[in-house]
Amino acid sequence: MLVAVALPLPLFRTFTYEVDDAEAQRARPGMRAVVPFRNRREVGVIVGASGLPAGVTPKRVHSLPDDAPVVSEEILALCQWMAEYYVVPLGIALRTALPAALGSHTTPAPARKTRRVAEIRRDMPSLLHRDRVFARSPQQRALFELLESLGGRAAVEHLTERLSFSPSVLKGLAARGIVSISDEVVSRDPFSRREAPKPARHTPSDAQREAIARLTSGAAGETFLLHGVTGSGKTLVYIELLRRVVVEQGKSAIVLVPEIALTPQTVDRFRAVFGDKIAVLHSALSDGERYDEWLALREGRKTIAVGARSAIFAPLANLGAIVVDEEHESSYKQGENPRYHAREVAIVRARAEGAVVVLGSATPSLETWVNAMSGKYSLLTLPERVGEARLPKIDVVDLRDAPVSKKFEAREAGDWLRLVISEELESALSDRLRKGEQSILLLNRRGYSSFVQCASCGYVANCPNCSISLTHHRMPERLVCHYCLHSEPLQTSCPQCKGTVMRQRGLGTQQVERLLADRFTTARIARMDVDTTSGKWAHAEILDRVSAGEVDILLGTQMIAKGLDFPNVTLVGVVDADVGINLPDFRASERCFQLLSQVAGRAGRGPKGGRVLIQTRVPDHHAVRCAVAHDFHGFVRQELDGRVTPAYPPNVRLANIVFSGTTEAGTANLATAATTWLHALLRKRPMPGVSVIGPAPCPVERIKNRWRWHVLVKAEHPAELTRLGRYFLERFPVPKEAELRVTLDRDPVALL
Ligand code: ADP
Ligand code: ZN
Repeated sequence: MLVAVALPLPLFRTFTYEVDDAEAQRARPGMRAVVPFRNRREVGVIVGASGLPAGVTPKRVHSLPDDAPVVSEEILALCQWMAEYYVVPLGIALRTALPAALGSHTTPAPARKTRRVAEIRRDMPSLLHRDRVFARSPQQRALFELLESLGGRAAVEHLTERLSFSPSVLKGLAARGIVSISDEVVSRDPFSRREAPKPARHTPSDAQREAIARLTSGAAGETFLLHGVTGSGKTLVYIELLRRVVVEQGKSAIVLVPEIALTPQTVDRFRAVFGDKIAVLHSALSDGERYDEWLALREGRKTIAVGARSAIFAPLANLGAIVVDEEHESSYKQGENPRYHAREVAIVRARAEGAVVVLGSATPSLETWVNAMSGKYSLLTLPERVGEARLPKIDVVDLRDAPVSKKFEAREAGDWLRLVISEELESALSDRLRKGEQSILLLNRRGYSSFVQCASCGYVANCPNCSISLTHHRMPERLVCHYCLHSEPLQTSCPQCKGTVMRQRGLGTQQVERLLADRFTTARIARMDVDTTSGKWAHAEILDRVSAGEVDILLGTQMIAKGLDFPNVTLVGVVDADVGINLPDFRASERCFQLLSQVAGRAGRGPKGGRVLIQTRVPDHHAVRCAVAHDFHGFVRQELDGRVTPAYPPNVRLANIVFSGTTEAGTANLATAATTWLHALLRKRPMPGVSVIGPAPCPVERIKNRWRWHVLVKAEHPAELTRLGRYFLERFPVPKEAELRVTLDRDPVALL
């Protein structure tokens, strides 16, 4: 018998293989097949029967490693849709839908690993004590304080390798009994170590009750937008829907969250209610553990999958509901092929399998909002916070008002804190400290503005591989590129003019943490950004400490804006709202509005109320103005108007075609040739409503030594983009030189 096999290769076709008669029964669609391909073996998926191809003798399938299909009919259909819509080969779509462990020929087995962990043994709350203990060992103090900011424990490897601490410093701390070092099994599921929380029992508000009623009577395949302000109790609505679908009707469900480690509270609430029915799919799992969870879902031992983007492919039968929490989050879009958006996949899957979809957000994406307005999605609204909580009052601190002379004075006096934190924000912080309340400070700076510049000639250290400036990091003191992770020592003199004054511009989270610690000597400060984690799980540990009241000020990047629910947080400060607002990207304002609204939403979730202070130099920008006024509708109106000329989504459908290569000229030529090719094609086969814009260098012109150009294709109808994209990727000739590559990003979330 002949079968068509989809292989994870960049080729838009399936391949025909022969299966022995004895195996023919098993060779059903959805079965994995190990096949010979150009002198090697590949693992593919059988997608159907095949006719005899002309002119070649099909090779034999090497083996069928599984007893039953690993891809159900439904998931196969979903992958076929994904392959077509995002213009990728079916085999690549299928590989994404399966757990990584199924990508190899061998049967997966869970792996157990151990790692060495350093943990603080002796607390040192008073500075005096600290000064004494570390009088002659400043290095030990630095390491001790770093450990503290990491939540009291961290992997030894992380400290010595990523943060470059000398092992002898750590040994010194251990010898003095200040820190202990032990072995720990890492392949344990972090959730099994977490306490099972008690389910909260709230009586739903009227608005919640209405939303639950409409969701539970939703039609098969219906998509709902649950637009609920921050703190309006969206999670309770999801949970009641799942209770109906999973417990009462015996169906299964998927809950998507932007990132598990950043939203442990949300996940805990689901675990509290549904216990071991839940499989939590997260990045801390090993491939083997992930495979175990996948099996549990496929065999129906667990019926709710909770996870980030890829959980949308959970092998559940009899699907009743899909929840997409914080649907506006850009992490739902995959950055590599297939460049799918989990929200769109969710909607397609639900429609095919007769499930209900809920997209939840306080700040829905414009795409979703327009669909809700047109009636394509059903709109549910939670206009107010639940319980006694009210939306916080938001005030703007106009940084332009700070007289230049004052800044100059501060600089002269070495008062660096004043350069980042205004008097208003500083006094609000000390007020919260006095009252024993918590504060959150958003410093969205990492990767943008903490760079080093020569005071005389203006030289800025750039990455040798990418066209962006290097970010200054302390502990260890290095310059780091946030695209390619290139790192180099800090220059003490300017390589261009030999000037000796290298000034630090902008302040990153690390410096602000230090300045805050100097100013508020008794405050317990925790920092959360990509550097404070020895594994992604460290985020959850920091958040647990905030929850337990062990942190007074939580300082961090946009990571701290997601779904946190801490009633004792009464102050949120945004150090610089303008970061990112001027990025050359049509979604820059939208992202800024979402971030400000979301982070503001962390304040005042308890009876004590809350206040938000936003420092900005563009208080009149509509993203800032509307966030301050809690005015989502006003923002949408203005933003939609701003995307008419030139047209951008959701006013038009968009694909971003990116050309990259190792030479600048080769890349530019390829982009130009492609544009000419596309124009010629459109002349020959006119597609009304389709336009090609560009070519132009990408806003970030070079990443990891590859030059980048792009072309935008806009269309009124999605089907035209599908057709044109496919035709282009299949036929446009890419010369075999300069490692030239073409990628197509459909419905891009960013154009950088
Ligand atoms: P959102 O996701 O909409 O920002 P959450 O789901 O996190 O809001 O809910 C905010 C808080 O309100 C949570 O602590 C939750 O337990 C609580 N809560 C939810 N519903 C109610 C209710 N009906 N009455 C009182 N408290 C509620
Ligand atoms: Zn770089």
